[in-house]
Amino acid sequence: MTRVTILGSINVDTILQIPRLPKPGETLSMSGKQVAGGGKGANQAIAAARAEADTAFIGKVGDDANGKMMLKALQNAKIDTTQISTSNYADTGEAFILLDDNGQNSILVDGGTNQEIKIGDIETAHETIENADFLITQFETPLTTTLAAFRYAKSVGVTTILNPAPAKTDLDPELLKLTDLIVPNETESETLTGIKVTDEASMNAAATALIKQGVKAVIITVGAKGTYYQTKANHGFVKAFKVDAVDTTAAGDTFIGALSSRLNSDLSNLPAAVLFANKASSLTVQKLGAQPSIPHLSEILADGEIKKA
Ligand code: ADP
Repeated sequence: MTRVTILGSINVDTILQIPRLPKPGETLSMSGKQVAGGGKGANQAIAAARAEADTAFIGKVGDDANGKMMLKALQNAKIDTTQISTSNYADTGEAFILLDDNGQNSILVDGGTNQEIKIGDIETAHETIENADFLITQFETPLTTTLAAFRYAKSVGVTTILNPAPAKTDLDPELLKLTDLIVPNETESETLTGIKVTDEASMNAAATALIKQGVKAVIITVGAKGTYYQTKANHGFVKAFKVDAVDTTAAGDTFIGALSSRLNSDLSNLPAAVLFANKASSLTVQKLGAQPSIPHLSEILADGEIKKA
């Protein structure tokens, strides 16, 4: 079993089902509303824990009902929440997802307490970082904190995984040097490198550009097509499982969490871990919502396509 520490965001998602986006000044009736746990960090932690990685979380919630609900959800998933603190200065992070009848998403995010994570919180969490095989983070928490966490992880020999999402162009060069494995999707890969992902050659060019900037390995996820991986020594493409997708929310988050439950910390089994993560995320896309759709290990292994580690 791997040990995984995730530094990241915790949100409550409210999905507002609407016929179409309202025009300026217009009032529209919603056709439905759903509330569910979300936040890239929390989704990835739940994916890792359900795939039976020993998982701990570094983050922050508000002193409010959403914060209590999310702490409970993470604890129910057997995640160590010792390093999730409660802030009195902001509300728990929230996302409002406008989902129209065509399945098109528009999302508004209130970072809330996710933006309140400080370098001091990383110092308090040193032991939680040290005890892990992997430290994983995304771009929904402050960059200064991410840098502090990655610097510490590298100083104690912990493998770092960066999910550069949501996409950002102005990336701190130090962050890439501190990153062992970077996992963008195709849009994020293009934003980071300026190279449009169209085929294996362009994925190779994008990954090579990232490796030149200091990362050791690159995984580019390309939705229903599958996943490209590259290290200094080798590269390859692992096709996605053919399924009927109903909602791709949290596909990438499931991929990363599941990957970390299988990966060797020296990244030596990248293709096998990618196959496992493809399987896990192919299950997520067959169900509605983020956290409810993330599979457990038993479901990932159920049809025998993936062998028990
Ligand atoms: P993100 O959610 O970050 O945009 P992707 O859409 O690239 O990430 O999906 C991540 C992984 O999830 C893919 O590499 C693939 O293995 C799996 N996946 C995503 N969409 C599908 C799909 N329609 N069918 C099967 N697998 C999928």
